[in-house]
Amino acid sequence: MPAPHPPFKAMLELFFWNGHQSSRRITLDVLKVIQMSSFQYFLYLPVKKEVTGGQISLGHNMCIRRLFQSPLQWAWRAAFLKHNQCRHQAARRWTRSGGGPYRAVIFDMGGVLIPSPGTVAAEWEIQNHIPPGTILKALISGGENGPWMKFMRGEITKQDFLEEFGRHCSKMSKTSVPVDSFFSVLTSEQVAKPFPVMMEAITQVRAKGLKTAVLSNNFYLSSGKSFLPLDRTQFDVVVESCLEGVCKPDPRIYKLCLERLGLQPSESIFLDDLGMNLKAAASLGIHTIKVNDPETALKELETLLGFTLRTVVPNTRPVRKTMEIPKDSLEKYLKDLLGTQTTGVLKLLQFDHGLSNPTYYIKLGDHQLVLRKKPPGTLLPSAHAIEREFRIMKALGNAGVPVPKVLHLCEDSGVIGTPFYLMEYCPGVVYKDPSLPGLESSQRRAIYTAMNRVLCKIHSVDLKATGLEDNRKHGDYIPRQVQTWIKQYRASETSTIPTMERLIEWLPLHLPKQEKTTVVHGDFRLDNLLFHPEKMEVLAVLDWELSTLGDPLADVAFSCLAHYLPPSFPVLRGFSGCDLTQLGIPTAEEYFRMYCLHMGIAPIKNWNFYMAFSFFRVAAILQGVYKRSLTGQASLATTQQNGKLTEFMSNLAWDFAVKEGFRIFKEMPATKPLTRSYHTWAGPQSLLSRPGTRSYIRLPESSPAHTPQGALVISPEGLSPPVRELYQRLGQFMEQHVYPAEPELRSHQASAERWTPSPLVEELKEKAKAEGLWNLFLPLETDPERKYGAGLTNVEYAHLCERMGTSLYAPEIFNCSAPDTGNMELLVRYGTEEQKARWLVPLLEGKTRSCFAMTEPQVASSDATNIESSIREEDNCYVINGHKWWISGILDPRCQLCVFMGKTDPHAPRHQQQSVLLVPMHSPGIKVIRPLTVYGLEDAPGGHGEVLFEQVCVPKENMVLGPGRGFEIAQGRLGPGRIHHCMRLIGYSERALALMKARVKSRVAFGKPLVEQGTLLADIAQSRVEIEQARLLVLKAAHLMDVAGNKAAALDIAMIKMVAPSMASRVIDRAIQAFGAAGLSSDYPLAQFFAWARALRFADGPDEVHRAAVAKMELKRHI
Ligand SMILES: Cc1cc2nc3c(=O)[nH]c(=O)nc-3n(C[C@H](O)[C@H](O)[C@H](O)COP(=O)(O)OP(=O)(O)OC[C@H]3O[C@@H](n4cnc5c(N)ncnc54)[C@H](O)[C@@H]3O)c2cc1C
Repeated sequence: MPAPHPPFKAMLELFFWNGHQSSRRITLDVLKVIQMSSFQYFLYLPVKKEVTGGQISLGHNMCIRRLFQSPLQWAWRAAFLKHNQCRHQAARRWTRSGGGPYRAVIFDMGGVLIPSPGTVAAEWEIQNHIPPGTILKALISGGENGPWMKFMRGEITKQDFLEEFGRHCSKMSKTSVPVDSFFSVLTSEQVAKPFPVMMEAITQVRAKGLKTAVLSNNFYLSSGKSFLPLDRTQFDVVVESCLEGVCKPDPRIYKLCLERLGLQPSESIFLDDLGMNLKAAASLGIHTIKVNDPETALKELETLLGFTLRTVVPNTRPVRKTMEIPKDSLEKYLKDLLGTQTTGVLKLLQFDHGLSNPTYYIKLGDHQLVLRKKPPGTLLPSAHAIEREFRIMKALGNAGVPVPKVLHLCEDSGVIGTPFYLMEYCPGVVYKDPSLPGLESSQRRAIYTAMNRVLCKIHSVDLKATGLEDNRKHGDYIPRQVQTWIKQYRASETSTIPTMERLIEWLPLHLPKQEKTTVVHGDFRLDNLLFHPEKMEVLAVLDWELSTLGDPLADVAFSCLAHYLPPSFPVLRGFSGCDLTQLGIPTAEEYFRMYCLHMGIAPIKNWNFYMAFSFFRVAAILQGVYKRSLTGQASLATTQQNGKLTEFMSNLAWDFAVKEGFRIFKEMPATKPLTRSYHTWAGPQSLLSRPGTRSYIRLPESSPAHTPQGALVISPEGLSPPVRELYQRLGQFMEQHVYPAEPELRSHQASAERWTPSPLVEELKEKAKAEGLWNLFLPLETDPERKYGAGLTNVEYAHLCERMGTSLYAPEIFNCSAPDTGNMELLVRYGTEEQKARWLVPLLEGKTRSCFAMTEPQVASSDATNIESSIREEDNCYVINGHKWWISGILDPRCQLCVFMGKTDPHAPRHQQQSVLLVPMHSPGIKVIRPLTVYGLEDAPGGHGEVLFEQVCVPKENMVLGPGRGFEIAQGRLGPGRIHHCMRLIGYSERALALMKARVKSRVAFGKPLVEQGTLLADIAQSRVEIEQARLLVLKAAHLMDVAGNKAAALDIAMIKMVAPSMASRVIDRAIQAFGAAGLSSDYPLAQFFAWARALRFADGPDEVHRAAVAKMELKRHI
């Protein structure tokens, strides 16, 4: 073990010497102090001796932490510290010239000088998809003896803390919480940055001769040092809980701080963000200030102290060497301009931003101005046109657009070397981080709304009235811009970037039609807006360097760049990957919609083009900066690294180009039907001319309210407006009601009541029915008059069914679940009016349920002709005898109908032996022997039963279609009803992939998020590809069923039944693997999804049977 630090040993010796009478007898030389870790020490005395009045048993090892926690020892320790402190103070000379009765300001650290752990946690949770409030709740709920407080008191190591705290968080949130990642963020240089206003205030407080202190509940880092990202020289006293073994709000720690300061409570002011800490301080007589935000707290502190604490102009710095301007000449010029009464020395600072056209803050006398000039050196003729900037700002200011008031344009290069203009300095807040950390979500929303509104204002300026109209041809802004930036890029190109090349080809081919010409800002983003310090109001739009007349949508797209850039992006910070709903920031789509609504224009369909163009433009600019940095003309040394970002930007641009391509493609079927035939077929043949062959050709529309039957709509966006609306409502219902109900429904299935229906399902069924989200499954071709269902085509339903499939509980809630759907369709197709009235109506209303009994344990039931159960005709009824199993839904108390398949004539031709009978479930002789399980899952309350039918008597009128027609009916039933499983399997897979993505983004292993491990990327890509392939096949089968009928679609139905379950099994299996063991638990739907996907490789007919069918049909076609 290492020896302790010498001062620590000295302190111990002093402790024993000064404080403890009985310990005087101890020979200090024999006291052994062993450092166990950075903050745990063991005292060891080889001689066994009792120490009175304390807890030390000499000769026993003891942890120093315990020593300091006994009140008695505390007093000794305080005495020791006071002694030391006084010595220190005596040596320090200080003067006092302000502060009234106050002689010191004591600052808490987290939440006052640096961001609070709570705020950091909130942001981190959003970014890592952890339930909001988890960390904070865990911090608080642990109480005095929770891991956080023990860590703060220095009782446990960082490692122990992270383990204990991680367990606590995960238990509370029922999800794995990577607290080590939170801890690294909390202590990272990027986050743990002192607030500049606070540091400035501390400088001012000290300049007035007052003392400053930090009083922090703090912790040790692994290095053994405490976490203190502050300049210690700025504080007379630093008191940290982990060093003292005591935390706020324990009064002892405040007293200790005051003692070290050598002051009375009434002589100090304490700032903290936590009420309970302030309360404890106030009860001792210390004046307190609650810090909600640093600016407001400082205002309060200024009032108490009676002097100003904020002198520095925000976002400025001393003028860079390369950007210096002749001060004397400027001062003379300004004095002439502002009048002879202007006296005093010129103060000149440079703004951090505005590097292209350098921008300066000027204070001269009472005047606060901003000077903006051209950069030095040779410039391109049209670049850095500050004259145009001045003219536009002046006109916009007159038109009521919030811009800084421009005062004067000086075109004479003789004054400071280049032309420049002056404007009034407008104090306000610039939000540099577009994710707006530290603000409430409502404030963030308000800021983005204000940003959107001000853009609308700019775009609504009357060009004629403001004199901004120019003589140039309007309407070709984007073509001109595309050419300009291509040229600029080519001029600064240093190597070939493939996506830039593709964009250079793609952009000119997809130019949009410019609808409107307005003033365009050209660089419209959040950090070019100056906000009111207290209200969410834009005071001024800054940096008009790139402004011109053009297509306003370019500005809208440009203001959404941050949505797609990562938070760590060096030149333009973004918030991609963050949960915008939680943050309160509108998505880019919402932002566009907001703009359109406010401008009164139709939604912008081709906004992906504008995004592609915006990213392309930034890529070209960055390439220019990079080239300049290579030739040594750059204004910043760091620009060199920026150039490397060109490729990143151009890749983003290309992503949008691809999206735009897909948008055009997806919309095509609704407007321009594809007339190509599949390339697997010999030649293009029309379905109309040759039934049974495949083609995408469009049939006449059945109803204008629906997607034309012949249209193969491959994404929900292409659905007809009423069906799209239905799809959206279904989605909303899933989000609002179904997903949130899943945990309760899962626990119901595991409870003793599981064999009775869940009341919550019944409640949700009523809600769905009331919203018209009911019986959506019945295809238009079965129910052409829409008597029973929504009358959707199979393709339309495929999209909706997929959405339902994302939750195992959803299909029943919308009355779209198997086996009822197949039975209902059977009744619609083949039932008599009486049968329909008796069985179909209650099923359609969701009042009863049903089952389908075919499979038998004794025979290979994949071959329906094997079925042996007998249906014997007797006087006025049929008597059935048989043994069935895997009868889904038969255990449900609501199950009233069993659609039974058995042999009426074993001597008839093979396919005419079977019949279908409607058996009331209350018939005597039906015995459910046991529920079967699928990988241990019972699927209650319906279950899958093994059942005996013994001498069950069924009225003759319950026969469907007639004796011997069973095979035919079973085939018909297997059409749409069975492809629904495939549609749902796509839904399972989508949900599994979504869960997997969220999980691997938030979990860290071996030092990096799981998502960054190559194998997971491959798994994600593979899953996406397989889902897309299977979906297209489902849609194709559905499409053929719509246009050519179930028989013609037989091959495609068999193919998708072969493909979908195994595809889903693979995708879900990958998701389970990525989840770790949790994936197998019932905390997530993955295990159940997996079980059902696997089961569907039998329940929907074994894979082999489908394979055999496909091969048979395929061979037939080629002969
Ligand atoms: C969860 C679940 C729910 C179910 N629900 C119902 C229900 O509600 N009603 C109902 O009647 N049944 C139901 N079933 C039963 C299901 O329909 C049958 O399991 C299926 O038809 C296969 O019959 P079998 O189990 O008798 O397998 P078998 O016919 O014995 O076949 C066994 C295996 O033989 C092979 N095989 C069979 N035929 C061929 C072939 N032509 N070529 C090559 N290999 C072949 C395959 O590997 C097959 O898996 C359900 C099953 C499950 C798992």
